Amino acid sequence: MNFILLGAPGSGKGTVAEALNKSFGLTHISTGDLFRMNIGNCTELGQKAKAFIDKGDLVPDDITVAMVKGRLSDKDCLSGFMLDGFPRTIPQAEALETMLQLTGQKIDAVINLQVSDAVIIRRISDRRVCKECGATYSISFNPPLKEDHCDVCDGLIVQRADDMPDTVLTRLATYARKTKPLVDYYAGKGILMTVDNEMGIGFAMRQIQDELKSKNIIN
Ligand code: ADP
Ligand code: ZN
Repeated sequence: MNFILLGAPGSGKGTVAEALNKSFGLTHISTGDLFRMNIGNCTELGQKAKAFIDKGDLVPDDITVAMVKGRLSDKDCLSGFMLDGFPRTIPQAEALETMLQLTGQKIDAVINLQVSDAVIIRRISDRRVCKECGATYSISFNPPLKEDHCDVCDGLIVQRADDMPDTVLTRLATYARKTKPLVDYYAGKGILMTVDNEMGIGFAMRQIQDELKSKNIIN
């Protein structure tokens, strides 16, 4: 099974990916995480991507597509993968289709997470991440046990530069302009599933499992 997780920034793609992973054991590919890893390791790719990410803009398609192509050719993707944050533009979706045609793979379902802008803005302003291991926290709903330190690794907890309020508005506008057209694109291919993700992960997972069953993707 291969899935795409679609949704605005802060719509909970990471949380849903984690839960889906527990149920189905798919390889999780988050382009945001891959970029942040490259930035952390000061790679050439990371240096190119950083300026775009910090402003809330998308990283150019050629850079992003090349990175995903490399990741999808890893062996652990053969038994099923879940793309989180890719594709984010129509040209990226077209490039993905070409890539998968070459390897005889296909996307089984595109899970579109729906959350209102008001909830997104609150969730993102509450979001904190561990600088060392990337674990995420919410200062309102899921704060770390020890203030400013990660429960997992004791690393420092920070706010992502692109989670600052002005940048969030840019990211939402970019989403509406560049990524939202993918909803129609995948609806046209008959593989879109729309899931309400305002009510918590349990509710979202039940909708996903019901839809996957009704489409005979799982038993
Ligand atoms: P969110 O979904 O909350 O915006 P991500 O971690 O998925 O967070 O992405 C963070 C940033 O990484 C994006 O704002 C964008 O700059 C960059 N990025 C991630 N995926 C892509 C992509 N597919 N194409 C271009 N840029 C991307
Ligand atoms: Zn940590």
